[in-house]
Amino acid sequence: MTDRTGQCLCGAVSFKAVDMSDTFSACYCDSCQRWAGGPYMGASVKTENLEVDGSENIGIIKTTSFAERAFCKKCGSGIWWRLTFGQYVGSTSIPIGLLDDRSGLTLSDEMYSDYKDHTNERPENVGQMTSTEAEAVVATFTEGEPE
Ligand SMILES: [Zn+2]
Ligand SMILES: [Zn+2]
Repeated sequence: MTDRTGQCLCGAVSFKAVDMSDTFSACYCDSCQRWAGGPYMGASVKTENLEVDGSENIGIIKTTSFAERAFCKKCGSGIWWRLTFGQYVGSTSIPIGLLDDRSGLTLSDEMYSDYKDHTNERPENVGQMTSTEAEAVVATFTEGEPE
């Protein structure tokens, strides 16, 4: 268990998760993939241990009869997936991409693993672009005046 902090893309929502799990799950179900834009990867924290700043910027949609998903109303980042019915109520899953620091987090299980397909494979020799290389390309987008 580790205390972790994180925020959405725009920063309107930030949080502290006390005693967050040191493992995360990946889910390949249709619901998670449509929400996350790909496999959903989340780490759990007890809902009572989640301190949210900017909760007025959070929208919540009930996506199934037993769960809800929260998002930032300003930037669209997914904030949590939370069961609202059943034995695991009281736990909240946070997308690990929101975390400021993912050190020590390891993948524990994959849900809907039969939904994995060829797009989830990472072949060797796939093109690699480092952050430095990507930022050099982005810099060319902002040089000069727009036409
Ligand atoms: Zn935001
Ligand atoms: Zn799922």
